[in-house]
Parts: sequence; structure tokens; C-alpha cells
Amino acid sequence: MDGDKSVKALETTQNISENIDTCDIKNHKLFLTGFFNTEHIVLIIWRPDGTVVWLNKYAGRLADINDSFVKGEIKVSTILPAEVEGLIREKAIGKENMARHYEYTGPLITKNTCKLYFKWDSYSIPDESGDEYIITTGVDITGFKFTEKKLQEANEELSVWQKEMAAMNEELMAQEEELKHHLTELKKQDEALKVTEERYRLVVEGASDGIWDWDLLKNSAYLSEDWSLMLGFEESEVLGYYDKWVDRIHPNDKKAVINNIKNCLNNKCSHYLYEYRIKLKTGKYIWVSSKGKVLFNENLVPIRIAGSHTNITERKKTESKLNYLAYYDILTGIPLRATFMNSLKDTIQISKAKGICFAVLFLDIDNFKIVNDTYGHHIGDRFLKKVADRLKSCIRKKDMLSRIGGDEFTLLLNNLTEKQEAELIANDILKIFEYPVEINGHKLYTTFSIGISVFPENGQDGKGLIKKADIAMYQAKENGKNNIKFYDYEMSRSINYRDDLKRSLRSALEKQEFYLCYQPLVEAKAKKVVSLEALIRWRKPGNGIISPNEFICLAEESKLIIPIGEWVLDTACRQIKEWHDAGIYNSSVSVNISVLQLKQPEFIKMVSEILLKTGLSPEYLQLEITESSYMEHIHSVEENMKLLKKIGIKVLLDDFGTGYNTLKNLQNFTVDSLKIDRSFVGNIKINVNKVIVEAIILLGRRIHAEIIAEGVETKEQYEYLKSIGCNIIQGYYFCKPLESEETVLFLKQDMKAVFVKL
Ligand code: C2E
Ligand code: CA
Ligand code: CA
Repeated sequence: MDGDKSVKALETTQNISENIDTCDIKNHKLFLTGFFNTEHIVLIIWRPDGTVVWLNKYAGRLADINDSFVKGEIKVSTILPAEVEGLIREKAIGKENMARHYEYTGPLITKNTCKLYFKWDSYSIPDESGDEYIITTGVDITGFKFTEKKLQEANEELSVWQKEMAAMNEELMAQEEELKHHLTELKKQDEALKVTEERYRLVVEGASDGIWDWDLLKNSAYLSEDWSLMLGFEESEVLGYYDKWVDRIHPNDKKAVINNIKNCLNNKCSHYLYEYRIKLKTGKYIWVSSKGKVLFNENLVPIRIAGSHTNITERKKTESKLNYLAYYDILTGIPLRATFMNSLKDTIQISKAKGICFAVLFLDIDNFKIVNDTYGHHIGDRFLKKVADRLKSCIRKKDMLSRIGGDEFTLLLNNLTEKQEAELIANDILKIFEYPVEINGHKLYTTFSIGISVFPENGQDGKGLIKKADIAMYQAKENGKNNIKFYDYEMSRSINYRDDLKRSLRSALEKQEFYLCYQPLVEAKAKKVVSLEALIRWRKPGNGIISPNEFICLAEESKLIIPIGEWVLDTACRQIKEWHDAGIYNSSVSVNISVLQLKQPEFIKMVSEILLKTGLSPEYLQLEITESSYMEHIHSVEENMKLLKKIGIKVLLDDFGTGYNTLKNLQNFTVDSLKIDRSFVGNIKINVNKVIVEAIILLGRRIHAEIIAEGVETKEQYEYLKSIGCNIIQGYYFCKPLESEETVLFLKQDMKAVFVKL
């Protein structure tokens, strides 16, 4: 039944073709048969219940159904994929003449398992009896699909490739960036290199450095142009370098340089550094610092040295200047202590070996401070230079003079046969300074205190010998200056004593160890006490009473004289006022003043305050100032002297005749009294002294100053001084300095009775 219908359906189909056949039936039949059985097209006619009514050869082949299949036995599902069948049923069955097109993209699994792709079309047609037939055609699109797949794959590949390309591109871009960065860096480095090269060139040219590169195997060297020219090598490539270079080295340096190079090469040290002099083309020597680095081959054989030469001539000059400054005194040009010590060391060794003696002289200018204070440091310096020149003129070639302090010199007298030789030379020195040193029209007289120590008698070490000569010099000063002293052991003890005094002096005022004595100044004719000179004493525990001669100079050195002097003035004024008030005494007090005090700008203020405090009237105060050149040109001294006069305080020039500039001082300020120094009075029998004393008296008269003579010990002296017009007498002849209580007793006594006694 079904078979008939399918035949009919086929016939219907054939009818269609037969309609076409009307044009050329035979050909059309062939065409249709060919068409239906064509490869690549599946043609199936089937019924909605799935029974295949007809199928073409291609379909049969694919489904492995032979031509003689039994109609109605084959189900369409054996040919069509279930999915396609489902779609056909859904879309085409029951929908008459409705063509439905489906493309099945999945593979059609055939018996021979080859994967094929089909594009399916179906439409249903009813036969005359109304039974529905479904005609399904499938066009094999496997080739297309394959191409499509290939295309897709190619596309995918392309996109992968594109992605890769993009990635590569990115990478390239990144690389380009990096390259750009490198380029910029390179440019920068190049710039920096140029700057460095330029800088290096400038440094080399500016610092006059030369570059050298010495090939040890060929013994040729490269020298930078400037140096090559400067040294007179025509080429910068110097053949036979070693000899040529060594030839130019200063004879005094040659040996050391050669040794240095040899040591460097033999000891396999990689660095070479040496300073020496080298001759230029002009014949002039310059100092060079040669620095180099040695290159060794694998067998540790040096093959090359390269480095630089620096012209260090200026540095060497500065060094030698500094050296000179360290060892020589710039002012006088004579050696300083360090040079003297070196020389002394050598002399000790030689003298020890040869068993000979030598002497060290310590020379100190007496009162140099006065020159400095009076004329200023500028003149002081010129004075020192002239003094040094004069000293040099008295020494022998083998001796050495040096300046070891402001106004202190040391002299090394070599190779003496006996120590008296040293004394002779020292005496010569004192003698040549009897003539003044002239500066700017000023005639400056100077003397020396000289101490001598002798080798080996006083020791065998340099420092010790200098120290001992210094101690001896101190003794010469103590001895009145302008003299010579040989060191002896006792001196060290006295120096220690001096140091001890100096230390104790600081606390003496606080500990109230000072007290005053008073010595009357007596009117020569009336024998009346006209003044009392206050004289300080120091009662030092363990040492008894110490004379001002011992400690005043120490107090001046340490400037303690300022507070001590103030204490003296205060105590003396208070005491005298007390005696005035007690009716014991009605005259003045004489107080010694150090020039150091007088130089103080606040000196007048201090004096006025004491007078005010103690209530003593200024007319009862007389200040004794030791005449000295300290006083000249010192503005504050002159001013203070004038102010003292203004206040009504008397001024007395003490120790008159011993200092210098006597007359000059008298022109600068007026004084009330001149006190003739006791050294003239003590030796009044000597004609010279007589002349001096008489001259002082004449001078006093002319300037309307009273004349006082101190140190009068005998009746003879007193009578004589009175006879030549001396107004006032002070001395043991009348009275020694007395302590306060003794002074009171002395003042209370009947003066006449006292003098009759004498
Ligand atoms: P100067 O001012 O010349 O004092 C006189 C010195 O001669 C005193 O010695 C006195 O004791 C001494 N003298 C008096 N008459 C005779 C005599 O007939 N024969 C002898 N050989 N000597 C006599 P002194 O007290 O030892 O004073 C020594 C020096 O100390 C003083 O000499 C003075 O320059 C200084 N001096 C004393 N007291 C002070 C003071 O308070 N301040 C300062 N700045 N110096 C003082
Ligand atoms: Ca005095
Ligand atoms: Ca005196």
C-alpha cells in the first residue's frame, strides 16, 4: 500500500519532470534520472510515520541500503540524523506544500563513518488520496563546510597571528621606547664624557699635569705634548726614554729616583710615587710629583708604567717657606728654638765623642718691655732686629745664635778650650751694647743679662743646659742686670724659692700677710719730720719677713701689684688720717706707686675714692714714682700725672738719676720733688757721684722741686748734702723704717732729744 503511494509520489515527481519533457522528453528523462541519482544530493521520500517510500542511489549508498530494499521496511531515522528528522516533523509535516529549509551543521554519521555535512530542504505533499508524503533533499555541503572550517581555522590562525603581531608590535614599541631611552642615555653619557674629557683636559692643562706612558719592553714612552715640549723632547714618542729622562733629573735627586724605580719594579708594587727635580729645555729645574701604575704580564714581569707628572714647584716653594718659618725667625732671620735644639743635640754628641767643652749662653735684653711700651711694637721689632744683627757680629762662624722668645736669645759657643772663653765672648756682647741702637732718630741704650751653662760640667742634655743658662741669666738680672753669671747649683734653689714666692704672693693679700713700715723724711735744716714713707713688708709664714726688693718685681710680673698697691695706699692714708686725728702727726705720707698702677686709666678714680673714704686731705698725700722711660709717650701716665697735680696730690720722682729720659719727663709734667737715688749718696765720696748729686740739686732748683736724698747713713753724708742745698734727708742716719707702733713712739718723742742722741 505504502509502496504504491510512494510510487505515485515518485510518479508525481516524474510527472513534473515529464512536464519539462514536453520540450525534449528523452533528454529530460536522462537529465532527471541523472539529477536524482547525482552524487552529493540525498533525495528521500517518506511518510510522516517515518517509513521511507523512496530514496535515491546516493542516499542508499550513504545509508548502506541497496537498491532492492523493501519499501516500508526502512525508517527515515536510519538515514536522517534524529535532529533533522525532528525539525522536519516540527516544521514541515502537516503543512501542505510548505517548503522548509534546514541546514544541518552537524555531521551525518554514515556507516562508513565518514563525516558529511548536509543542507536539508523538506516539503510535504499529499497524494490524490490525501496521504502525506515528505520529500527531503539534502545537499552535501561537506566540501563547503570543510572550506568554511579551513577558512575559520585560517581566520583563527590569522587572529592568533594578529594577536601575536599586536603583541609583537607592543613589544617592538616597548623595545623602541627602550632604545629611545638608551639613545638618550647614550647621548647624555656622550655629553658627560665630553664634559669629563673637557674637564680632564682643562685639569691637565690647568694643573700643568703631564701624562706619561712608558713601554718597558721597547723603552719608549709617550709624553703629553706640553710636557714633551717643555722638557725639550721634539716628539711625543720618546725612544730610549729611561736614559733621556734620568739625564734630566737633578743630580741631588738622581740616585734616589733610580732606586725608587728599581724598588718599585723589583718589589712588584703596582704603584709608583716620587717627588724630584727635573731640568726643562730652558735649563731651569722644576719640582715634579711623578705618579704611576705598573702593569705586569702573566709572568709578573713589568711591561709598562703609565701615570702623570705634576708640577709641584709652587708647593715646594711654599713648603720651604713654611719650613723656614718653622725653623727661622722671620723678624731677625736667625734660627728659632727647634733649630737651636737640633744643633745642640749634634754638638753634644760631637763634644762627647771628642771630649771637648762648649757653652750655652742665655741672653735677655734688660727692660725690653720698656722699649715696647714706650715706642710701640713697630719700633720694638726694629730694635730687636738691630740687636740681633749686632749680636751676630760678635759670634764666631762655628757658633749658633737663636731667638727663643720675645727678647730672649740663646748662643751656642762650640768647641771651647776653657769656660772662661765663654765669659770673654759674653763680655764682648755687653761691651758692644754700650753704644745705643738708633731707630728713627731715637738713641736706645740697652743692656743684657747673660747666663752661662757649660758642657759637660752643668749637664749633658740640651734642655737641661738651656734651663741652667736661663737660671743663671735670672741671677744676672737679680744682680742688677747688665752682667754675666755662670750657673751654679745654689741658683736652682733660689729659682725654686722665687717660684714659691710667686705662688704664695697670690693669696698673701687675702691672708693679710702684708703690713706697712714708715720711714721719716726729715727736713735737713730744721730736722723736722716732713713726711713718712710707707714701705711694705710681707710676713710670710715659715719664711719670716720678706723685703719688697724680693717680691715687688714678682708682683709687677703677675700684675698683682695693682691690688697690692691699692691696699698700701688705703692702709697708709687710713693710718696717717688716724695719726692726724690723734694729734700725733700733722704732715704727709709718701706712698710708692708702681708705673703699672699709674698706667691704669682708673688710677685717679681709685686714689680719689681712697682719699674720700679715709678722709685724708690730698695735700697730705705724696706719690713716689720711680722714674723710668715707661713714663714717656704713655698717654695715660701723662694724663694721670697731670690729674694728680690738679687734685693737689704731690708727685715725687724716686731713685732720681738712675733712669733715663730724666730731662724729657721733667718737660712733660711738673713734679714736686726729686729723690736722689741712694747709690749716689752711698758713694758720695766718689767724684762722679758728687758731680751728679750737685747737678741734680741745680736742676731741682731750676724746676722748683724739692731735693730729697735717701740712704743717708752717716753724719758726713748728711752734712755734705745739707751744705750743697739738699732740702730733705731720709736714711738710717735719722731713722730706719719703723712699724706703726714704733712710728707712734718715734713721733711722740721729743725730736730734739732724738737728734741730740744721734
Ligand atoms: P725705695 O722706694 O727706694 O725705698 C727706700 C728703700 O731704701 C727702703 O727699702 C728703705 O728701707 C731703704 N733705706 C732707707 N734708708 C736707708 C739707708 O740709710 N741705707 C740703706 N741701705 N737703705 C735705706 P725697702 O723698704 O726694702 O724698699 C725697697 C724698695 O721696695 C723701695 O725702694 C721701693 O722701691 C719698693 N717698695 C717698698 N714698698 C713699696 C710699695 O708699697 N709699693 C711699691 N710699688 N714699691 C714699694
Ligand atoms: Ca720710695
Ligand atoms: Ca728710692
